[in-house]
Amino acid sequence: MSAEMKIIDGDARQHQDNNRALHYEESLLWEKERSDHPGVDLPAPQNLKSRTGMKARDDIGLPQVSEPTALRHFVRMSTWNYSIDHGFFPLGSCTMKHNPRLNEKLARLPGFAHIHPKQPASTVQGALGVMFELQNWLAELTGLPGVCLSPAAGAHGELAGLMTIRRAHELKGNKHKNVILIPDSAHGTNPATAVICGFTVRNIPTKDTGRLTLALFKEALGDGHDVAGMMVTNPNTCGLFEREILEISKALHEVGGYFYCDGANFNALVGKIRPGDFGVDVMHINLHKTFSTPHGGGGPGSGPICVSAELAPYLPVPTAVKRGTAYHLETLEDRPTSMGMLKGFQGQFGMHVRALTYMLSHGADGLKQVAEDAVLNANYILAALKDAYHVPFDGPCMHECLLTDKFQKEKDVSTLDIAKGLIEHGFHPMTVYFPLVVQGAMLIEPTETESKESIDRFITVMKNFAADVAQDRTDIFHDYPLSSPRRRLDEVKAAREPVLRWK
Ligand SMILES: *Cc1c(COP(=O)(O)O)cnc(C)c1O
Repeated sequence: MSAEMKIIDGDARQHQDNNRALHYEESLLWEKERSDHPGVDLPAPQNLKSRTGMKARDDIGLPQVSEPTALRHFVRMSTWNYSIDHGFFPLGSCTMKHNPRLNEKLARLPGFAHIHPKQPASTVQGALGVMFELQNWLAELTGLPGVCLSPAAGAHGELAGLMTIRRAHELKGNKHKNVILIPDSAHGTNPATAVICGFTVRNIPTKDTGRLTLALFKEALGDGHDVAGMMVTNPNTCGLFEREILEISKALHEVGGYFYCDGANFNALVGKIRPGDFGVDVMHINLHKTFSTPHGGGGPGSGPICVSAELAPYLPVPTAVKRGTAYHLETLEDRPTSMGMLKGFQGQFGMHVRALTYMLSHGADGLKQVAEDAVLNANYILAALKDAYHVPFDGPCMHECLLTDKFQKEKDVSTLDIAKGLIEHGFHPMTVYFPLVVQGAMLIEPTETESKESIDRFITVMKNFAADVAQDRTDIFHDYPLSSPRRRLDEVKAAREPVLRWK
């Protein structure tokens, strides 16, 4: 802690609670309670007889605080969250982009917000129509005609997709096919999903290129008799387009394997190319990334999957179908080849409304521009920072750019120090130390919704950091962030020994 901070912290009279400016330190509600001061002041009940025969408990352990105290407690804590509505949030692979308020307005229409999933289909035709339309848009954009909207997040979509593949192999009698090939640069959810699904994971090394190569793929494939499929992210987690994907998917199909594409990075391709055209059989879409529905603390996710015509019979139920002029949710009786049901009812319907609103308000040309602008912004950052920071892989990037701390590390300043410095300067850090295949990785995704001014401000701060390090002004980096209520946390201890109880 710097000397300046000590003076402030040490001034117990002025800052009893460590509050600074209008920023409050917040204790637990239980620490605020006063034993002589109940939260609710009711007269003691007279002659009360229990009608149920159950005895009322005296103390159920709720903190005794007044309404204003409780309200302030939660409102103050809500201001601790940094969100995309505060400022720039360049978290690579996460697509933290603006969520248009029009989406919210439509999702709150009573006809969408106040219905119940158990209502008869005839009374919710409009809602089912929204699902049907969204399925059609996703099918058109991916080139994959079978769509199921029910998965609740990207990782849940992965599970739905792999279970669909497993079901297809099962019904085709391919018991021996139990291996999923996954490149070493994959998002951690990919191997986790494959293992949960009962598959064995075989790694495809990407070596020094940051991309898959046909040669290394074929080595991992072997004769392919045991290969059920592969999971590949394209563009991959290094922000690069997989150039040999057509040959790779062809070789996979030749041995009867299915190509699962992690579509979390679809915002780099949407409206430009259709994954079905480069051999994808199954893909999940993060509506909460590409199609701007809120995520993180902002709302539930939604991870629909899109599949080829061949795999459509095995999709989870329900999917929205149209019979004559009426919409209907398919059941297992309608489609007994289905892998089953993965989620209560039809999934996160509010997200379906938001995503379709986004698609309709952008139109086909607008969605294409989303991808173009996302890629342009990432390349703008890459071009501006490529001399100040080490760039591990050549060539233009897609929607996110990858840098490392290699130059700064020589002066003992690491990716972590730079990330903490960004907090001090009012930016959420980029994704750090991921992908794992790159040492000291900094993965920066500006998205298409950031203005040139905010991107330029970020670039200036990053360039200043590099200049500070180059000129040996490195001490301050180990102290960042200086002004936040909490400074450097022991993140390892917090993860390994979390304190989950208040005593
Ligand atoms: C975000 C992401 C996921 C997981 O999506 P969730 O909705 O967080 O479950 C999977 N793969 C990649 C590449 C991602 O970026």
